[in-house]
Amino acid sequence: MTEELEKGTLGEETLLEVKELNVYYGLIRAIKDVSFKVRKGEIVTLIGANGAGKTTTMQSITGLLHPKSGHIFYKGKELVGMPTHKIVKMGLTLVPEGRRVFAELTVYENLQMGGFTEKDRNKLKENLEMVYELFPRLGERRKQLAGALSGGEQQMLAIGRAMMCQPELLLLDEPVNGLDFQSTEFLYQLMGSYQQYGTLLFSSHILESICLTSDRVLVLEQGRISR
Ligand code: ATP
Repeated sequence: MTEELEKGTLGEETLLEVKELNVYYGLIRAIKDVSFKVRKGEIVTLIGANGAGKTTTMQSITGLLHPKSGHIFYKGKELVGMPTHKIVKMGLTLVPEGRRVFAELTVYENLQMGGFTEKDRNKLKENLEMVYELFPRLGERRKQLAGALSGGEQQMLAIGRAMMCQPELLLLDEPVNGLDFQSTEFLYQLMGSYQQYGTLLFSSHILESICLTSDRVLVLEQGRISR
C-alpha cells in the first residue's frame, strides 16, 4: 500500500469510504465488491458505460438503495441502514440523474426547498446569493417556473438547490448527460473548480469529463472497480 493510501485509511482526510459493497436487484448483482475512497477537497469521477453501476453506487451512498453487504463510511460513521434525510443532514447530498426539479414551483422556491436543513435565515440568504452568483441565469429567472427552464438551466437549478444546504460532499449523477455544448462547458468549469465549495464525486460515461475536471478517476466496469 502506498504512503498516500495509508494516510487516507488512517488519517482524517478520508471523507467517504465505500468498502466491499454488494448491491442486488432481485437476483441481479449490480455492484460487486466495490471499494473506494474520496478524500476531503477532492474532485473524483466515477466513470463507466451505461449499465456499469454508477447510479446504483450513488443511490446506495445516499441511502436510496440498500446494499446486501459491505460498508459505506462517511467521516467514519456507517451510512448503511441510515435514512436519506439523516444522511443529507450529515452534509452529503445527491443530485440525481435527470434534473428532477419541481416544475410547478419557481426557481426561487426550488432553491428555498434545497435549504431545508439550514435553520439560520441569514445563512440561507447568503447561500442563495452564492447560488445566484454562481449561476447568474438562475438569478435572472428567479420568478419563473422551473418547468419553463431549458435542460441546462434545470440542471444548474438542481445543482444550485443541492448547494443551498452547503453539502460537504456533493454527489452528481451524470450531470452533463443530454446537455447542450454551452451548458456542458459551464458545468465542467464549475466542477473543475469545486474545491472552493467542498468535495465532489460525480459520475459520467464521457471520457472528456476526466481531463477537464477530475483529480482522480474510478473506472466502473460491469459493477466492479477496474482501476
Ligand atoms: P446509466 O448510465 O445507463 O444510468 P449506470 O452506470 O448508472 O447506467 P445502473 O443504472 O446503476 O448503471 O445499473 C447497473 C445495473 O443494474 C445494470 O445492469 C442495470 O440493468 C441494473 N439495474 C438498474 N436498475 C435496476 C432495476 N430497478 N431493476 C433491475 N435491474 C436494474
